Amino acid sequence: MAGHSFLADVDRQFEAAAAFVPMQEGLAEKIRVCNATYVMRFGVRLRGRMETFVGWRAVHSTHFTPAKGGIRFSPDADQEEVEALAALMTYKCALMGLPFGGSKGGLRIDPRKWSREELERITRRFTQELARHNFMSPSQNVPAPDMGTNELTMVWMADEYRRWTPNDINALACVTGKPLAMGGIDGRVEATGRGVQFALREMFRHEEDVARAGLAGGLAGKTVVVQGLGNVGYHAAKFLSEDDGCRIVGIVERDGALIDPAGLSIEAVKRHLAATGGLKGFAGAAFFEDGASVLEQACDILVPAATEAVIHADNAPRIKAKLVVEAANGPTTFEGDKILRERGITVLPDLYVNAGGVVVSYFEWVRNLTHIPFGLMERRYHEASHRSLARALEKMTGAAFPNDGARGFLEGAREIDLVRSGLDDMMRAAYGEIRATLKGDPGIPDLRTAAHVIAIRRCADAYGAIGI
Ligand code: NAD
Repeated sequence: MAGHSFLADVDRQFEAAAAFVPMQEGLAEKIRVCNATYVMRFGVRLRGRMETFVGWRAVHSTHFTPAKGGIRFSPDADQEEVEALAALMTYKCALMGLPFGGSKGGLRIDPRKWSREELERITRRFTQELARHNFMSPSQNVPAPDMGTNELTMVWMADEYRRWTPNDINALACVTGKPLAMGGIDGRVEATGRGVQFALREMFRHEEDVARAGLAGGLAGKTVVVQGLGNVGYHAAKFLSEDDGCRIVGIVERDGALIDPAGLSIEAVKRHLAATGGLKGFAGAAFFEDGASVLEQACDILVPAATEAVIHADNAPRIKAKLVVEAANGPTTFEGDKILRERGITVLPDLYVNAGGVVVSYFEWVRNLTHIPFGLMERRYHEASHRSLARALEKMTGAAFPNDGARGFLEGAREIDLVRSGLDDMMRAAYGEIRATLKGDPGIPDLRTAAHVIAIRRCADAYGAIGI
């Protein structure tokens, strides 16, 4: 949004929440500011000429190390955006109780304009810059995918870093979101979307919260509009429709939006998007060129999962969703948020909703450092003990153990089961804390402020513990 400062909004939200956290003089400012931002300008010879790229890695906080946060490839990337996103990473990690500081990176590039080979060369060159200046390492700073980057980008970065540090046995822990075949963890690709699903499921376990949003019942049948069918939006929409029975009635992408009150097939739309690069021409649903207007479509749940500042002072008065679930980072401006609050629209805030990515990144990082998959030592042990329990039950009751669902009962957990279970647990726990914090102080106006209060408190406690 022209003239809007994402960083100023993040700071305003910080100030609003810090007012509820008693701290020694000056500490709030220390927590708020970005520690350091490294600007990189580097050249890569491409298509017969030297191309110069500019990128940033901001380290907002190192009260825990490594500092953690994604790398974004976008033509709109700039220092302010990267610093705002890095600050959100600090608060997100603190809210979720992860032992990380906050960081974020950006490269100003439109990845769609370069071939795979060209992107590899650019990414490897970018990695050299980051590694050389200690803005990337398993102990100091660990990037992950974000907009415009994916597991391929991460594996190029990991491979390049490994070449630089051949004696570091933990080198692969220098980035997360890697492919399974190269140190990744099952469930990382889906993690952020899965976390969105777990966040919504947890909210819907609290009838009172559902009623406050003007909704009733469970997730089944709820109408959903999703903006952005990339990594986060695709997985969130897929899981909510396939597992929870939500109806995805609208999808907004760069070139426009699709609406189908009967519910869109996520897989079919994704295939069309992959094949054509847009939503236009998709058969069986109405296409609207003015995608942004579809955010104002009547629905139960609006899931912005694309980019920042898409809900703002101009369109917030017209948003008809009862619940806004911020899968993207910073999709609602500070002013837009105020309007939604005044209108009684519930907002599940970004630092909570999209934390699934960094939670599972944490699991991946730990797995890389321990060099052993989760569950390897226990799986068959648990299976054997479950089977002997089943045999004992059969003996006692004279009935055969039911076959349906036997796998779920008898087999030990696979790594993906453990990853999902750990993620679910952390999403539930964080929601409980946010809820309790909101209830605990009548001055705290909303879930977003409550989430920030928890995060700031944790940062202040960490500084307090080291005597600052
Ligand atoms: P992505 O690049 O995979 O997907 C983004 C999608 O949004 C693309 O399909 C793109 O075409 C679409 N898009 C971009 N601008 C748009 C616009 N103005 N209108 C409509 N559609 C638009 O990115 P992603 O990884 O899914 O990230 C999306 C958001 O989620 C970002 O805000 C990111 O910071 C946040 N996030 C991502 C992760 C992760 O694990 N990938 C984790 C936490 C938060």
